[in-house]
Amino acid sequence: MDHIQEEHADKDESSCCSLMEEPADEMEALDPKGDVVLVVGRRHLLVSSRVLELSCPFFRKMLQSNAFMEGANQPNAERPPIKQLQEDHPDIFYLICVVLHYRPAHPPDSIDDYRTLADLCNFYGCSRALSFHVRAWTDALELSSLTVDALQSLLWVAFVFHLRNLFQRVSLYLAETLTTGTWKLWDVHPMPARLKDDVKELCENVKNTVQQRIERMIDDAGANTERHVGKRDKICSQCFSNKPLETKKCGYCGSNDFRDYLCTKEARLSLFKEWLQSQGYWPLSRLNGRSCRSFLGSMPSPAGTRTPCGFDDSCPLAGAKERLIASLRISHSDCMGLELEDYDPGDLPEMS
Ligand SMILES: [Zn+2]
Ligand SMILES: [Zn+2]
Repeated sequence: MDHIQEEHADKDESSCCSLMEEPADEMEALDPKGDVVLVVGRRHLLVSSRVLELSCPFFRKMLQSNAFMEGANQPNAERPPIKQLQEDHPDIFYLICVVLHYRPAHPPDSIDDYRTLADLCNFYGCSRALSFHVRAWTDALELSSLTVDALQSLLWVAFVFHLRNLFQRVSLYLAETLTTGTWKLWDVHPMPARLKDDVKELCENVKNTVQQRIERMIDDAGANTERHVGKRDKICSQCFSNKPLETKKCGYCGSNDFRDYLCTKEARLSLFKEWLQSQGYWPLSRLNGRSCRSFLGSMPSPAGTRTPCGFDDSCPLAGAKERLIASLRISHSDCMGLELEDYDPGDLPEMS
């Protein structure tokens, strides 16, 4: 072992002269009794060939005896041969090796890194060996604020690591976030091509659910037959405008003849639709050209509702608005995301 470390100590001294060079080489013993040194980027990893062979078909092939050109340098703990790997993502490769050697591992820093991890594990064929780690890490991810790009990457991650639950959740968030334009640009390869169409269909289902919710809430608002006399406004008998109760003479038409403001289901329905329109939820065709997320993005706060009748929060109109907002908030839990099994018949044990 000493000869390897010495060799690297020398490199350290020479490389510290230039600031522009890569950081100094590091020798890390992932297995202190390792029998191969893998060189990826600036990293020198002392690893166990057995561990790698068991987890990755790629390594099984690479470490087969006849794969060593030099013949004499078979993996051995006395004088571990050095294998250089051409790898564009040495840090992610390192993470894979850390996990494979049961060392404490930090999750990837970004969704991009998760994607790279999935790419590498897909390439090396070690996705099973890392599946449990990735599942535990991604369980903690907050999906609701992720961009289309990030969700598409995560769907790939879920696919590579056979994560059913993540696949289902991410597909649903993606369906909520996609627009027709972003959907068209999406390259699902190497996942099955029909996944793209299925996500579009899911997208339509989510939109339909939202539209149905809004329609049902409009029906609801028109179903309550309660009538009450307004305690904030009265109505000018001549021009029908609303005036505060204390008004003596209408400012528009000059009339001094007023009648009660009656809060009826017709009045509330018309106010409810006006409000929907002002919030961007009506007409429902507004949802067609955009993503559900942006459609629902500016959801108003139901608190502090003021109604023309003066009953405010106790008027059915306020209740209708509140119920609409609440029902749109949960709309997403009503739709099921896509099932991983439909795209990947993999023989992994059930992982939910
Ligand atoms: Zn008037
Ligand atoms: Zn009312």
